[in-house]
Amino acid sequence: MTLPPDNGAAAGADDPESAADFGYRRVAATDRDRLVRAVFDSVADRYDLMNDLMSFGIHRLWKEALVTSLHPRPGADYVDLAGGTGDIAFRILDRLAASRRGAAGARVTVIDANREMLIRGRTRARTRADAGAIRWLVANAEALPVPSTSVDFVTISFGLRNVTRVHTALREARRILRPGGRFLCLEFSRVTVPILDDLYDRYSFSVLPKLGRAVARDEHAYRYLAESMRRFPSQETLARLMGDAGFERVEYRNFSGGIVALHSGWRI
Ligand code: SAM
Repeated sequence: MTLPPDNGAAAGADDPESAADFGYRRVAATDRDRLVRAVFDSVADRYDLMNDLMSFGIHRLWKEALVTSLHPRPGADYVDLAGGTGDIAFRILDRLAASRRGAAGARVTVIDANREMLIRGRTRARTRADAGAIRWLVANAEALPVPSTSVDFVTISFGLRNVTRVHTALREARRILRPGGRFLCLEFSRVTVPILDDLYDRYSFSVLPKLGRAVARDEHAYRYLAESMRRFPSQETLARLMGDAGFERVEYRNFSGGIVALHSGWRI
């Protein structure tokens, strides 16, 4: 399958009247938020199971790697954008709890545009002793209900490609960070290994939609997933967009041959 061109321009669809990519479809930017919400409304119930099945559990390793890079510290304020069912929030608190100084004083706010995803997360949190350290907020990553310079870490895992105005979300992430704060983005990216590229493409477009139909009863949602993975900006383009949003010391690491990349930037 031919890959569409790198999508740095569309990723910056900051004009509300403009068109934006919804997978391989062009839709009005104003409609896109609604279409993305419908995808996650539809799959929320089976979201966690599907992640394990689709990635053979490897998404857990990628998320662990994000938290390792973050170096969580006690007493800090964390915001996890597009935080869905809470995977990153739980991992941050687990990592702190396992450290010598513990998780006391840490506050994690999980923000997601989709109430259904957050409800799943809150249900998962019920069995945790530290559930009180997590706040669940329904909001768009493009307009955060969080004061400027008020948090130490902002993360987003497999969320940024779903956001309509990537520039706006990046600027918002930087706005809420305190000086010295750090932003980490884990996202599907460009495969850098030629043979893997072809296999990955076949897997994404043949297997994922069928798995979505069988398990989540929604083939279209998982076709959107495959398409949105391909339409998201490359490693270099995302690094540039982060620089444009005012982040400094921007760098990235590839995982699994570039299937996924972890981008890091600081607010200085
Ligand atoms: N971060 C979680 C993880 O890694 O498992 C969930 C990722 S899930 C693939 C993408 C999430 O992004 C969904 O929960 C969806 O509701 C959320 N989302 C999509 N557009 C958003 C937006 N504009 N603002 C905030 N969240 C959004």
